[in-house]
Amino acid sequence: MNNSFQEIPLSEHKVARDRISHNALKVTDRLQSAGFKAYVVGGAPRDLLLGFTPKDFDIGTDATPEQVRELFRNARLIGRRFRLAHVRFGREIIEVATFRGTGDTGERSVEDGGRVLRDNVFGSEAEDAIRRDFTINALMYDPSNETIRDYTDGYADVARRKLRLIGDPELRYREDPVRMMRAIRFKSKLGLEIDGPSEAPIPEMAPLLADIPPARLLDELLKMLLGGGAWNGFKTLVEYRLWHELFPGLLDSPENPPRLIEQAFCNTDQRVAEDKPVTPGFLFAALFWPRAREEARRREQNGQPPVEALAAAGEKVFSKYTSRVSIHRRFSTMAKEIWMFQPRFDKRRGKRAMRLLQERRFRAAYDFLLLRADEDPAAAELAKWWTEVQEVDAETRNEMIFGSRKKQQPKTRQGS
Ligand code: ATP
Ligand code: MG
Repeated sequence: MNNSFQEIPLSEHKVARDRISHNALKVTDRLQSAGFKAYVVGGAPRDLLLGFTPKDFDIGTDATPEQVRELFRNARLIGRRFRLAHVRFGREIIEVATFRGTGDTGERSVEDGGRVLRDNVFGSEAEDAIRRDFTINALMYDPSNETIRDYTDGYADVARRKLRLIGDPELRYREDPVRMMRAIRFKSKLGLEIDGPSEAPIPEMAPLLADIPPARLLDELLKMLLGGGAWNGFKTLVEYRLWHELFPGLLDSPENPPRLIEQAFCNTDQRVAEDKPVTPGFLFAALFWPRAREEARRREQNGQPPVEALAAAGEKVFSKYTSRVSIHRRFSTMAKEIWMFQPRFDKRRGKRAMRLLQERRFRAAYDFLLLRADEDPAAAELAKWWTEVQEVDAETRNEMIFGSRKKQQPKTRQGS
């Protein structure tokens, strides 16, 4: 195998050592003083070169996890599939991973179709670089001399803004089909083009996602949805036909999703951009809403009351459409709570209306009502009223809810 790498100097790449987290530098410095190799690897050098702020700083080293633990009192070994050391500094955790290989020996096991199930063989620095997914994810930053070590021409790809798989694309997707989703995530988040040969096989290989454990698909999907590029990511998943594998049958036409879904995704991106908290429950409420409403209407026609109908519809659609991507109970529960709140907005009078304002799910349910308002005039009318009632002073609110004859402060009990 080819062990050669290019060393790119600071004068060229311009990423000075002080751009790296102080704690990550402590880790590389100490490992290097003890005679080990230690570099900042993975997403951080990539993000810095592309002008983004890294989420975290991962370290690659030739020290074994046990050797790392001996050097750092604040290190803990974790992981079974990949053994890693976590070095904790207050709230920041620096992940330190021993270089991994690509050999067929040791603990690596490969399934019939070529998918890698376990991968725990240590390897050389060069092997560690080429077992990674994309060339831009394989750059190694050496803080001691501020150079970048590049085994895969990743630096040139950063400059070209190309996402290119290391090695033979079909083989690499077959080994781990989740790499197709990662390609979409990096494309939509970092604004990169996928290199032709890495792009071409995706739509036809998309069905391989069916073999991936549903919990892993959820993890990968959430990284995309909560990373600030939910709407772009959704459209790109659809474009490459990965969406169809994740949620077959959920949307009538994923190419033209309802506006409510577009709005929910865009709002989420907006909130991420403003550093506000976001919850997948709200996104799933929007995504599953068309099917849930359909089912709830059927039930209402058969005489079930609206809130009950929505609850039952929620159970049904969440069990029907989550065979590929498992959705945590807490997310589906939140989505159902948001839906079941909707019929309650109809009641604008009396204590019950006043109490609604204080309920835990009011905020999320109200935001959802705003989304429905876009496509439903009755919901728009309600949304207007519920917006107003929150904005006015207490006296006017009482008037709106209890009517003009009862102006004095009524005795309402707080809480739900
Ligand atoms: P992010 O900034 O979103 O965390 P990242 O590139 O750091 O992006 P991680 O999932 O944290 O992504 O993975 C860290 C690194 O591990 C990647 O940069 C890549 O080098 C390698 N890696 C991750 N997943 C795979 C995979 N499925 N196949 C090969 N290499 C991978
Ligand atoms: Mg990362």
